[in-house]
Amino acid sequence: MAECIFCKIVSGEIPSKKVYEDDKVLAFGDLNPQAPVHVLIIPKKHIKSLDDINQEDVSLLGHIQWVAGKLAKDNNLPDGYRVVNNCGIDGGQTVAHLHYHLLGGRTFGWPPG
Ligand code: AMP
Ligand code: ZN
Repeated sequence: MAECIFCKIVSGEIPSKKVYEDDKVLAFGDLNPQAPVHVLIIPKKHIKSLDDINQEDVSLLGHIQWVAGKLAKDNNLPDGYRVVNNCGIDGGQTVAHLHYHLLGGRTFGWPPG
């Protein structure tokens, strides 16, 4: 996707603070962190949102969950953390490339705003 900023981060065209990479996913620091730890985990392939996944993407989503847990451990968050996917307009999604937020280092409220 030529105009997708997260695809440009995957290709290196836009710089990022990379914290993890493998053949399927990339994780990098959020530009506008909402917590002491705020990492975005994205698939390298362009998927617009959680609303656009197929059955063939199920293992990729499981892998992203595993990376989230690994990065939480790497960041020493023994008291917990939050993993968030914002989907579509009502979900508050602002970048149309599937991503999961890993947030930690403070206590979060519920319900979300
Ligand atoms: P969402 O609102 O769930 O779509 O989240 C998009 C996130 O991407 C926001 O938290 C932004 O701060 C973050 N973001 C946007 N552009 C960049 C960028 N170039 N590098 C890192 N994070 C970004
Ligand atoms: Zn993309």
